[in-house]
Amino acid sequence: MHNFAIQMAYKFVDNYREQGARKKLVEELKKKGIADEQVLQAIGKVPRHYFFDETFWNQAYKDIAFPIGEGQTISQPYTVAYQTELLHINKGDKVLEIGTGCGYQTCILLELGAKVYTIERQEKLYERTKQVLPHIKYKPKFFLGDGSKGIPLHAPYDKIIVTAGAPTVPEILLDQLNIGGILVIPVGDENSQKMVTILKTGEHDYEKHVLDTFRFVPLVGDKAW
Ligand code: SAM
Repeated sequence: MHNFAIQMAYKFVDNYREQGARKKLVEELKKKGIADEQVLQAIGKVPRHYFFDETFWNQAYKDIAFPIGEGQTISQPYTVAYQTELLHINKGDKVLEIGTGCGYQTCILLELGAKVYTIERQEKLYERTKQVLPHIKYKPKFFLGDGSKGIPLHAPYDKIIVTAGAPTVPEILLDQLNIGGILVIPVGDENSQKMVTILKTGEHDYEKHVLDTFRFVPLVGDKAW
């Protein structure tokens, strides 16, 4: 077994109990309004309990956020499904994910056939997720640093997803989108944010939609808090 699994008491075994719980979670998300079949299928495939210490496996398929260390959380499944749905992922899309965290959202994007560039600012989380994901057969490109500035070196992207709450939309991210590309970002104060989607319709033209309210951990960085 992998060193990391031994150290953290993480176990990568997908039993009937967890598979059953995952099916129920998919049904729950459907009832809550997630309609995209491909997104639901991806949620049905990714073993969310792999991101939990075995002691907490009974929490893994509840529709709740959960602490993952370093003061951060694994996002609520509904939130992951909601943001993913808004991205309208096509197979082969080049996606920038800002806020890797434990990598659950990353795995969902990979299940949908995206090429994922994911950036995390907390070194411990970055190191841990960089070990775990390839071990469970998910292979994004990992970056350590301040994602509020995007990753200009690899731009442009077809889609950009921000998984932490920003005070405003960092313009530098819009510059890194392809025309026809979509940015999904929660925007607001520390206590609550509105989900914002921005479709880039021309070099300097955008279509913006402000949607439901969420509560994310803050996006900390040069172009954020
Ligand atoms: N996507 C994760 C999941 O699947 O559950 C949850 C991510 S967590 C809600 C938000 C993450 O964004 C945290 O790990 C935090 O350290 C990270 N973060 C905050 N500001 C950042 C920044 N400027 N650049 C990169 N990561 C950032």
